Amino acid sequence: MARFPDGPGTVESTGRLNVRVGAPSSRTGRLVRKIEAGVRFAVKGVVVGESVQGVDQWFALGGDAYVWSGACRDFEPPAGDSEIDQAAKADEARPNRAELGVYMPPRFKIADGVQHVVQGPRPNGLEGLIVHFDASRIRKAGNGPEDSDNQSLAVLRYGAAQRHHYGQISRTGTIFLPENFEWGEWGSHAGRSLCPATGRSGVSRYYVGFEMNNPGLLYEAQEDGVFCPWFNAVRNENGAVILDRRGRCTRQSVNGEWYRAGEVRRVPAEGNIKAGIYLPYSFEQFEALTNLCLYLDRTFPSFSLDRVFGHDEVAPGRKNDPGGALANPAQLMTMAEFRGYLKSL
Ligand SMILES: [Zn+2]
Repeated sequence: MARFPDGPGTVESTGRLNVRVGAPSSRTGRLVRKIEAGVRFAVKGVVVGESVQGVDQWFALGGDAYVWSGACRDFEPPAGDSEIDQAAKADEARPNRAELGVYMPPRFKIADGVQHVVQGPRPNGLEGLIVHFDASRIRKAGNGPEDSDNQSLAVLRYGAAQRHHYGQISRTGTIFLPENFEWGEWGSHAGRSLCPATGRSGVSRYYVGFEMNNPGLLYEAQEDGVFCPWFNAVRNENGAVILDRRGRCTRQSVNGEWYRAGEVRRVPAEGNIKAGIYLPYSFEQFEALTNLCLYLDRTFPSFSLDRVFGHDEVAPGRKNDPGGALANPAQLMTMAEFRGYLKSL
């Protein structure tokens, strides 16, 4: 059988295909759904996995999902589509969680050498989770390729220096935890805060915090179609981004981090969301957050999906995370919608 080239594109199924998660293998990969024969679907690339009938190539679908290539044909590379069209196509092929009927437990990575500051045991066990973004770089120095795992580790190290306590989710969907992290212990991540459900202040005691690697609220730059994070914008002595009459910022450096129009979205105010321009969390990042919430709900009787809040819900006015960064490039969710989504899974 011909070898398929590596790289993104689409293929057609010649028979009913099993989509497996966890490994490109019919033995160890968990069966999560089927693709019917004759369906053209998007693939991210080729990996070598279990050899079935002499064919060891598997197509990676993203999110650690794979299909055996032996029942696929007619690979087509992306035909110069716009990035937005490609993202839409990839999204069509993305497994619909509601139809999966399975739960994929999250995998955690310990950040070697990172110790966060623990204040003590949680009074009633782990009751909920606060979604943040870290308003930090996501790329290599300059405006290089995404480097979100390393940037996430840098944010975790910074948290140690700030005497904070939280986990971190990178844009690759990796969930990082400090070395000394225990779900039943608390430390500071939300600051001055008030829970809208219980009326309690100081929510860090009750709810674990997760920082999503993301540049935070963005500003249109002088150049059309260029969107700039606060850390590459010219700011005043109070640290506020300086905007001109058109509402545009000036970049500190044209070689610093910025984002194109196709990557960002302009979001009106709704629910917890502050109106503005945001870079959506990546698909993998949002999937990891979703799996994490489900894991905590299944693991700790004290945990409730009704107590998954945004930092902007427990510190409104003072904080704007996650705002319009939730959920992923194809979907915008308020925190209320996210709670409804979690409970529907
Ligand atoms: Zn926050």
